[in-house]
Amino acid sequence: KYKENIKFKDVSFNYPNGKNALKNINLEIKTGEMVALVGQSGSGKSTILDMIAGLNTCSSGEILIDNQSLYNFDKNSFLKKIGYVDSDINLFPCSIKKNVMMFSPNATEKNLLDAYSFSNLNKVIADIENSSEKIINNRGSTFSSGQKQRLCIARALIKNPEIIIFDEATNYLDDKNEIFILENLKKLKGEKTIIFATHKKSILKYFDKVLHIKNGEISKIDI
Ligand code: ADP
Ligand code: MG
Repeated sequence: KYKENIKFKDVSFNYPNGKNALKNINLEIKTGEMVALVGQSGSGKSTILDMIAGLNTCSSGEILIDNQSLYNFDKNSFLKKIGYVDSDINLFPCSIKKNVMMFSPNATEKNLLDAYSFSNLNKVIADIENSSEKIINNRGSTFSSGQKQRLCIARALIKNPEIIIFDEATNYLDDKNEIFILENLKKLKGEKTIIFATHKKSILKYFDKVLHIKNGEISKIDI
């Protein structure tokens, strides 16, 4: 379990095609903080999130977890600590329950119900007969995009991750559900580290710290 912080020290990153996506990023995210990365499309938010998850490796500089290089940790066991939801909906043609429990085979029924309530799915699920066994088809299913996105959120939360990463992961939700999820994330603050990329300025009041990203650089930090 990591205790103190995630730090970027002069992190730059170039994609394999040569595109320089991050320039000398310095940041600190303390354990238990709820942090927003805000910036226009193409500013580098997703690249930073992928760096934190260890999916991209720094071209220069270093990423430290409790002052130890991220790359000293075993990649797979580090990924287990992370609940990552991105803006694309990735569901599989199997039951609702299997979709949500996919990466958490040992989760209990109670964990499942908690994940459904976190994502405001109780009512949706209750309204479906034999709901948990109901098969989801990515196309043409009776689920709305917002409901599908909430299933993706439930899948990340049921992992009981130490670090929760949302990459524009409320983009399909209506305002009411987005606020519901933000309020629930806020309740996890302290216990979990929450990192949330968005281009929406209206929701920034939920966060302890706001990192403004512009052209691959941090242009401003609001605390
Ligand atoms: P954001 O998430 O803020 O919209 P990204 O981190 O996705 O921004 O992208 C930052 C920059 O890196 C953009 O200029 C984007 O076009 C570029 N980029 C993203 N992914 C790749 C990739 N796989 N290969 C090359 N360039 C990329
Ligand atoms: Mg992005």
